Amino acid sequence: MPQTEYSTHHSPPESPKSEINGPNFPDFTAVMDACRGRLHKRLSELLALEQLCRQAGPLIHSRTEALIYAEEFTLPLVSLVIGNPDTAKHCLLVTAGIHGVERIGTQVLLAWLETVVERCRWDEHWRRQFETEICIVAVPIVNPGGMLGDSRCNPNGVDLNRHAPIDAEDKVPFLVGGQRLWRKIPWYRGRRDDDFEPEFIALKNIIQRHCHINRPCIAVDFHSGFGFQDHLWIPYAYRRLPIPDIGSYVALKLLWERNFPHHNYVFGPQAMHYLSHGDIWDYFYQRCRADGITLLPLTLEMGSWLWVKKHPQQLFSFAGLFNPTVPHRHARVLRGHLLLIDFLLAAARNIEHWRPQGEQEREMQQMAQSLWYRQL
Ligand SMILES: [Zn+2]
Repeated sequence: MPQTEYSTHHSPPESPKSEINGPNFPDFTAVMDACRGRLHKRLSELLALEQLCRQAGPLIHSRTEALIYAEEFTLPLVSLVIGNPDTAKHCLLVTAGIHGVERIGTQVLLAWLETVVERCRWDEHWRRQFETEICIVAVPIVNPGGMLGDSRCNPNGVDLNRHAPIDAEDKVPFLVGGQRLWRKIPWYRGRRDDDFEPEFIALKNIIQRHCHINRPCIAVDFHSGFGFQDHLWIPYAYRRLPIPDIGSYVALKLLWERNFPHHNYVFGPQAMHYLSHGDIWDYFYQRCRADGITLLPLTLEMGSWLWVKKHPQQLFSFAGLFNPTVPHRHARVLRGHLLLIDFLLAAARNIEHWRPQGEQEREMQQMAQSLWYRQL
C-alpha cells in the first residue's frame, strides 16, 4: 500500500470539523486531561481504556489516531499496540465500538486485553511471542462520539459500517442495508463515496501502517445485535459469491472446530444472512489483496436477542437491545469470548502452519461450495 497516510478530512458543512491524525497529534493522556472528569457516566469505556494503558506501562503503545468532536467534548480515537510493530512477523487486528451503541463489544475486547497484559507479567513464553512473532493492534472504541451519545452512528450521523465506497451487487434490505436518503435515519452511508469520515480514515491509516506484504494479519471486529446465537462472519457483505480467500476461512473454521468441538459459534459468510452496502471489511480486504497483502477479516456478531428474550425489560431501553444488562449475564459474555480471541491470536501467529496452498486450498474451496454456496 502507499505509505502516505491521509491527513485531511472534509466534513459536511453542518457538522464540526474533526481532525485526522498527523504526526504531531497530542498523546492520549493529553487529550484525556481535557475531558476525563466529565466522561464518568457517559463513556466509562474510554476511562477503562486509559486505565488499561496506565497499568500496562511500556507493554502498550497508544496513539491518538483522530480527534472526534461530539457535543462539547474532544474525544481521542486511540489505537494500541502490544508487541514490536517494526519487527513482528504476524498481526492480529482487533476492533470494537464501530457502532457506538454496541458497548459490549468494546467491553469484551478490553477484558481480553487486560488478560493479555496481565499474562505478560508472569508467563515468559507468552510475553516472548510479542518480541518478534506477533503484534496486537487494537482499536477498542472506533466510534467514541457515537458511544458517548449511545448511537449506532458517528456524530455526523454516518453508520461507519455502511460507509466504505463499495456497493452491494444485489438487493439489500430496505434502509438496514445502507441508505443515502436521510442522515437522521440509521444506516446512513454518508453523502458521497469520496467524502470520508474521520473514523474511517483513521482505520484506513492503521491498516496501512500495520498490514504489510510480509506480515499476514487476521482482523476481528466486535459487534452485537443480530440473532439468538453468536456468529463469526466471513466477508463478503456486498455479494453472495465466495471471497477469494474462502479456502483459508474454511481451514480456520476446521482448525477451530477440531480444537474446540463444543464451541457455540455459527461460522459462515455474512451474505447468507443479508447483504449490505459500504461494509468496511469488504473494502479493506479488497484494498489489501490488490497490494498483495494478506488480511483475513472476521466479524464477531454477539447475538443479543437472547439477552432480550431472557430479560424483556431490556426492550424499553435502546442500549438494552444491544447489551446484556443483568450482571451475571454481562459477566458471562465478558468471559465467554476470551478463548476464541486467544485462539485467533495463536492462529494469526501460526498462519503458515494451517493456511492451505495448492491442491489443499482447492479442496477447501470445494468444501466452502458445499457448505455455503450450493446455489451458485
Ligand atoms: Zn454493529
